[in-house]
Amino acid sequence: MANNSIIKLKNVSKFYYNKGIIASGFNKVNLEFKMGEFVAITGESGSGKSTLLNVISGLDTYEEGEMYINGLETSHYGEKEFEDYRRKYISNIFQTFNLVNSYTVYQNIELVLLLNGNKKKDVKDKVIELIKKVDLYKFRNTKVSKLSGGQKQRVAIARALAKDTPIIIADEPTGNLDSKSSKSIIKLLSEVSHDKLVIVVTHNYEQVEEYVTRKIKMHDGRVLEDKVIKKIDEVTNIKQTDYRNIRLFSKIRLGIRNTFNIVPKFLLLLSVFLFVTWALMIEYAAFKKLEYEESINGFNYLFNDTSDKRIIIKKNNKEAFTDNDYNDINNISNVDYVVKNDLLIDSSVNLNSSDYWLYGGVNLITNINKIDIGRMPSNDNEIVFETSTFLYSEEEIKKYILDKEFKLTSDYSGVSEEGMSLKIVGVKYNDNMFESTFYVSEKTLNVFNIQVNRQYSDTKVLFKDNYYTMDTGNYVVPSYKVSPGYVYITEDMNYLCKNYNCVNQDIKIEVSNKYYKDSYTGKVKTYNKNNFKKLFGMNYDDLSGAFLVSMEDYNKLFDKNNFQSSVYVKDVKKIDDTVNELNNKGYSTLKITDALVHSKISEVIQIFRTIVTIILVVVLFFISYFVIKLILKSRNYYYTMIRTLGGNKKVSRELLVIELINIANIAYFTLLVLTYLYNKHIISWKFMGLIKENLVFRDYIVLYIILVLTSLLISLRYSRKLFKKSVMKTLVEEV
Ligand code: ADP
Ligand code: MG
Repeated sequence: MANNSIIKLKNVSKFYYNKGIIASGFNKVNLEFKMGEFVAITGESGSGKSTLLNVISGLDTYEEGEMYINGLETSHYGEKEFEDYRRKYISNIFQTFNLVNSYTVYQNIELVLLLNGNKKKDVKDKVIELIKKVDLYKFRNTKVSKLSGGQKQRVAIARALAKDTPIIIADEPTGNLDSKSSKSIIKLLSEVSHDKLVIVVTHNYEQVEEYVTRKIKMHDGRVLEDKVIKKIDEVTNIKQTDYRNIRLFSKIRLGIRNTFNIVPKFLLLLSVFLFVTWALMIEYAAFKKLEYEESINGFNYLFNDTSDKRIIIKKNNKEAFTDNDYNDINNISNVDYVVKNDLLIDSSVNLNSSDYWLYGGVNLITNINKIDIGRMPSNDNEIVFETSTFLYSEEEIKKYILDKEFKLTSDYSGVSEEGMSLKIVGVKYNDNMFESTFYVSEKTLNVFNIQVNRQYSDTKVLFKDNYYTMDTGNYVVPSYKVSPGYVYITEDMNYLCKNYNCVNQDIKIEVSNKYYKDSYTGKVKTYNKNNFKKLFGMNYDDLSGAFLVSMEDYNKLFDKNNFQSSVYVKDVKKIDDTVNELNNKGYSTLKITDALVHSKISEVIQIFRTIVTIILVVVLFFISYFVIKLILKSRNYYYTMIRTLGGNKKVSRELLVIELINIANIAYFTLLVLTYLYNKHIISWKFMGLIKENLVFRDYIVLYIILVLTSLLISLRYSRKLFKKSVMKTLVEEV
C-alpha cells in the first residue's frame, strides 16, 4: 500500500463548526506526495490551501477520509501522536514567519535544536553553518524584530533546515515579500528539496514555475488540477528525524532567557509579583500581630505573672534543677533570665509593719534596674517594692512605707513568724493598677521559697499509729526557741496518745508535694494558751494549733531545691523556637500564653479574622492570576511556536513555570533587601516595620513556599487554558 509515497490522502474532508454553522475547509481530497517532490499548490483565496496544509502538518484535525503517513493510517491519532509526527516529519514555514522576535537570529535557530534535545555547545557549529547557508552571517546576533521580511523568512528556512525533517511545508512563504526576496526564497527552498518533500502554497505561480516538479490547483475546497511538471529522482530511503526531549539545562537556560528578554513584560510581571509578595507579607504580619495581641489578652487565676515572655519548665525526670541545668538553659540564646523558684512568682507574700500591711508577688532584685523613689538596696535585708500609684500614692509611700521595717508573715492567716525583718528602700511604679511585687536578694528569696514550699505541701503528723492531717491553722512553724530534735504541740492534742499524754513520745511529721516527700521525727513537748508567749515570744491567738520545731529541722523539711522554674525570653517572636530547644534538652514546658483563658467573644473574633484572611489571600490569588494572565497573553504566540517546533505541552509548561518562579524569586529577594535596608535604618517605610516586628525566619520560609506554589499554580492554570485549544486555533487567533 505504501509504495514510496510519504503522505497519502484518501477522500479526506475538513469541516469547520462555528456557532452551529458548518463550513467546509476542503472536500474529498485525494492526493499522494513522494519524497524529492517540490509541489506548488495554487488557487484563489478561500479555496482551502491553508486548511489542507494544516491537516497535512498535523496542526489541525480532519473529519472524514483516511490520511496515511509513511504508510501508517492516522485516523486514531490524538494530540500526542500528532505531536510525535510533527517532530519526526514536519517543518512549517509561515507567511508571517512565526519567529521569536525578541530572540536573535542565532537564538531562533538554536531554539529548535535545544527543544529537540541537543546540547547548547554541540549545536553551535550547525547553527552557524545554517546561518551561512541562508546568507545571514552578518546578522547572526541581531534581534529578529530588526530584520526585513526577506531576512526573516530566511531565518525561518534555516530553522526548518535545523530541524532536518523529511517534509517542509510552506504556506505562502513569499506573501509578505517583494519579488526579489521572493525569488531568492523559492530558490533556496528548491535547493533543499531534492532529498525532501517541499510543499509550497502560492498565489503567484509564475514565481515558482521554474523550480517546481508538480502543480496542484485548488478551487472551492476541491483539487481542480494535479500536474507533474518535472520528473524527479525517486528517494527510496525516507529518513525520519530522530529527536530526544529537551535537556533540563536547556529548559533552565531558555526559562531564564524568557524571563528577561522582553523588558516591559518583565517589569510588569515583576510589579505584580512585588505587589503580591508585599501584600502577602503585610497581611501575614498583621494577622500575626493581632493574634499575638489576642494571646496576651487572656487571664488565668493560677498565675500572677502572665507575661507572654514566660515559659514554665520542669525536668522530664521530675528531679530538682542543678546548677548545670541552669547554666545550660542560660546558654540558649533567646533566654533572658531564669527564675529558679517559679512557685514564688505566682505566690504572694505579706509584709507588715506597725502601720501597714503590704501584699505582693516576689521577684529577684537583679531583675530590676531602675526605681522611681528611694534607692537600690545595698544588703540582703533591703528590698524594692513595685506597685502602682493607684494603690499607693507617692506621699503615702514616703510617709508609711519607705525606710520602714517590715516582717514576713504567712500568707494564710497573717501570722507573724520569727525571721528576718526587711526594709523597703526603693519603690518603682508600674502601670498595672492592682499588682505589686517585692524585689529581694537571693538570700531573702530563699526564705520566701521555704514558706512557699510549705504552702504547697501536704503535711501529716503520725502519733505512733494515728495519722493526724493538718489543716490551716495548725501547721509546722519554726522557732529559734525550740531545740533540734523536739516538736512542741498543743496540750489539746494529748487525747491522741495513750493515757492522754504525748509528752516525750516520738511523732513523725511527713511532708509531701508534687516533687518530694520528706519526714522528720521529734520528741514531743507541749504548750498551752498561758505559756505560749513566754515559751516562743509569739502570739498564741495566731498559732494556737501550730507544731513548733527548731529552725534547723524546719529548714531540712522545706529548704529544698527547685523543681519548677520559669524561663523568660528576650524575643517573644522566637518563643516557640526556645520552647523547642528546652523540650530537646529534656524539660517539659508550658508557655504562659497557652495557659490563659480567653473569652468566647475573642474566640469568635479569632475565627472571623482567620476567615477574612483566607478570603483575602484567595482574592489576592485571583487578582494576580488575572493580571498575570493578561500579561502572559502576549506569550501565547511564543508558547504556540514552541509547540510547532517540537516542544510539547510539558515543555511549554515548564518553561512558563521557570519564568514565573524566576520573577517570584526576584520579587521576594527585592523585599528581603528592603527589609534589610529597613533594619539598617537606610529606609524608613512604615509598613516595613510591621513586617520586621512580626515575622521571624520561619515565616519568611512559609511565605516563600506560598509564593512559589502560587507561581506554580498560575503557570499550571494558564498552560491548561492555552493547551485546550489546538495549535492552529491559537496561532490563527494570535497572528
Ligand atoms: P486559503 O488558504 O486557500 O485562502 P483557507 O484554507 O484559509 O483558504 O480556507 C478555506 C475555507 O475554510 C474558507 O471558506 C474559509 O472561510 C474556511 N475557514 C478557514 N478557517 C476557518 C475557521 N477557523 N473557521 C471557519 N471557517 C474557516
Ligand atoms: Mg491561506
